[in-house]
Amino acid sequence: MDAQTVDSQIRFEIAIAMARLGATDELLSRVSSLSVAQISEELKGLGAVPMLLGIVGSWGDTLADDEILETLRDWNQKSEERVWRITCPHCSIEMVLVFAMDTIVMARRECPSCNKEFLVVNDRTQIAEWRF
Ligand SMILES: [Zn+2]
Repeated sequence: MDAQTVDSQIRFEIAIAMARLGATDELLSRVSSLSVAQISEELKGLGAVPMLLGIVGSWGDTLADDEILETLRDWNQKSEERVWRITCPHCSIEMVLVFAMDTIVMARRECPSCNKEFLVVNDRTQIAEWRF
């Protein structure tokens, strides 16, 4: 993997950890552009335990990037919740959803980027088409 790929995968794992801590979609959509210091601050604000803060704090410092990625993956795999990486059907921005179930049968979300609603049905995103 090249350095850019590792960086984006580290940020994806951080987004998963943040989502489990209750991060808003708006925050998750910004993880790709935050500095390590900003990510640490956001994690503290979400009440992350010192172990997770320590892992992230070692990023770009005492641990190599591939070690950070591996440690974060291990961290995230401890959780029983499933994580979906989905794409907004309106504007194509990627986001992370966390649910404590095997399949998203139906969920309604508002995109943090374009603010339009969409549905996640059977793990796939769809543009909401309902009228009352
Ligand atoms: Zn969107």
